[in-house]
Amino acid sequence: MVNIFGLDIEEIKEAISKLNIPSYRSKQIADWMYKKGKNSFYDMTNLPKNLQSTLATEFEISPPTLTQRLDSKYGDTSKFLLSFDENTAVETVLMRKKYGNSVCVSTQAGCNMGCAFCASTLLGLSRNLTATEMFGEVYYVENELRKEGISVTNLVLMGSGEPLMNYDEVIKFLRLIHDENIMGIGYRNITLSTSGIVPNIYRLIEENLPITLSISLHAPNDELRTKLMPINKKYPLKDVVEAGQLYAERTKRRLTYEYILIDGINDEKNHAVELSELLRGQLANVNLIPINPVKERNFYRPSKEKIAAFLNYLLKSNISATVRKEMGKDVNAACGQLRNRYLEEGN
Ligand code: SF4
Repeated sequence: MVNIFGLDIEEIKEAISKLNIPSYRSKQIADWMYKKGKNSFYDMTNLPKNLQSTLATEFEISPPTLTQRLDSKYGDTSKFLLSFDENTAVETVLMRKKYGNSVCVSTQAGCNMGCAFCASTLLGLSRNLTATEMFGEVYYVENELRKEGISVTNLVLMGSGEPLMNYDEVIKFLRLIHDENIMGIGYRNITLSTSGIVPNIYRLIEENLPITLSISLHAPNDELRTKLMPINKKYPLKDVVEAGQLYAERTKRRLTYEYILIDGINDEKNHAVELSELLRGQLANVNLIPINPVKERNFYRPSKEKIAAFLNYLLKSNISATVRKEMGKDVNAACGQLRNRYLEEGN
């Protein structure tokens, strides 16, 4: 049985043409599947009965299934552990914000980038996700929101995985989710977060997709950054920042630099001074993120005063900067912890 979930209109056309089904039916099928969230051909009521049963014999529609769900008591965040097959589950997060409903998408099951503060990398990389699977994450949340009469409006590729290490499938996913026959999410409402895979930042520039690029810096010099993010050995700060600047110039999109604040590690005045020097004059915003402690590491959140002092130093140095608003404190343990617990329990 062929799974047609995640195919675009042209691919559906091709699949049904083998059964001599006219091509205009592909748009109707896509509409039911993607715009109305129907997984059964028998619910597609504008298709003739005999066509419904032919489709049901030849094809299936298999989006991901829910393994676990956690809802914040504050009502702003929901975490979904979604399974694609018996060995692969990832976390997808819905954040309800003032400007809309944002979904944090995982691009790999696990991750092998080894960032010292991240739970997603503790069990290594299981595998890359396909474009269809990433699409399935957003589709699942969209169907949940449809029950409330609302929609997904924004995406951040910031869940488990390094998106630029799964380049081709991520680009395919972005084009799929942007397709107005599928979900029609504007590129300007999409942010891709990377640890700085320099050659693929240059490739992304050539794709000409006006998405926002967010680069994880987390340290203002190579020595400290290599300790926190081993990828820095391969792609040092200077090269990462240069690639980021070209991205901002060519796309006219303001770049975001993510900077996790870890008590006593990268949050002292000398770090703020170095960071200001590194970023002076750039079209960029620094997003300061007080760390969510990871129990396996000895990393703690700085005090409110230290966070404010770091922010103020950057602002005084004319560096645009903000502190990320904390959401869903009760379910918002570090990314990857829900999946890790699930895997550790022997699933
Ligand atoms: S922060 Fe991102 S790139 Fe680094 S280990 Fe975690 S998931 Fe991978």
